[in-house]
Amino acid sequence: MECQDYGLTRNTERDNLNLNPLQRGGMLPIEAKKALLEYADGYSVCDYCAGRLDRIPTPSITGFLDDLAQFINVDEVRTTHGARESKFAIMHALCKPGDTVIVDGNAHYTTHLAVERNKLNMIEVPNNEHPEYKITPEIYKETLENALDKGEEIKVALLTHVDGDYGNLTDAKEIGKIANNAGIPIILNCAYSMGRLPIDAKALNMDFVVGSGHKSMAASGPIGVLGMKEEYADKMLQVSKRHQVKEIEMLGCTSRGAPIVTLMASLPYVTERVKHWDEEVKKTRNFVSQMEEIKGVTQIGIRPKEHDLTRFETPIFDKIAEKHPRRGFFLYEELKKRNIVGIKRGQTKWFKCSVYGFDEEQVNYIADSFKEIVEKYKDLL
Ligand SMILES: *Cc1c(COP(=O)(O)O)cnc(C)c1O
Repeated sequence: MECQDYGLTRNTERDNLNLNPLQRGGMLPIEAKKALLEYADGYSVCDYCAGRLDRIPTPSITGFLDDLAQFINVDEVRTTHGARESKFAIMHALCKPGDTVIVDGNAHYTTHLAVERNKLNMIEVPNNEHPEYKITPEIYKETLENALDKGEEIKVALLTHVDGDYGNLTDAKEIGKIANNAGIPIILNCAYSMGRLPIDAKALNMDFVVGSGHKSMAASGPIGVLGMKEEYADKMLQVSKRHQVKEIEMLGCTSRGAPIVTLMASLPYVTERVKHWDEEVKKTRNFVSQMEEIKGVTQIGIRPKEHDLTRFETPIFDKIAEKHPRRGFFLYEELKKRNIVGIKRGQTKWFKCSVYGFDEEQVNYIADSFKEIVEKYKDLL
């Protein structure tokens, strides 16, 4: 057979400013790109393996895991194939089919799938609805206590640190304390936070923290982080009876080759960048205030912003779309002409975006571009 042309060239990041929040924290620094080439071959990290991935001395995966544990302040850490695999593994180790877990109402779909794949029941903590969609410690506590009063036995609690719909930062410390007091192990899903902002699992009262290398830690991925307190290590990292060095929940070995090596190469860069998180928040707030100078653009979720993922309601763009010959596609196409991408094609009622990592000049250019597009079509309003 002859293979088709798969279209494997990509100039998205070279030629454009990409506003897709999903991609802003996964961009590789040059050191990681070099490591990617060095370790591009399959099983390339296994040259000096004696049976345990986490103990490989060259490249020093063992040293890297020590540093990673320190970076997020946990006793034990492993890498997985993603935040979702980390959540699945924890629930799998701690629960049996039919057990009940409690999760926040802004949880990612992968949390729901991890619950479903483990055949668990799920209690959801509602958010406070439009326009804030906030998960408060009070509602978390109330939902948990109501369930316990009804005689529910809850095996695991989960909190989404920053959700992917509104970019709301939750009060992990307070909600962690609520779970601790109830004696329920709690997982903090840091897919949108670990690698962007400092995470201290112990200070946040968390038993487990999970992260996503390709989402927020400047790695190629797919790779996830699974950090835990000492008291759960026996259960989480139990070894096989037949293959005595292999950890069962990890299926022996997890992430190897390019995914883990890029995460390793990026860790020094990531540990440095989280120190500048307050500048990123300031930048986002500045972007929001420029965008809201447009009548008909409103940021929803917690105000002022505490994270770069920003959701706008944009009735003004929807109004233009009604009369524009290109309908809903006009916005994407006008942005593309200005080398701005990352807003979904056809979407004008609302959109999510992020200016994480851009400089001031780029942020101003992006905000000005939106203003310019409104000005261009003001006759359609
Ligand atoms: C992106 C995302 C995930 C999925 O992360 P993977 O590492 O791809 O599994 C999970 N949770 C949240 C909140 C996310 O934003």
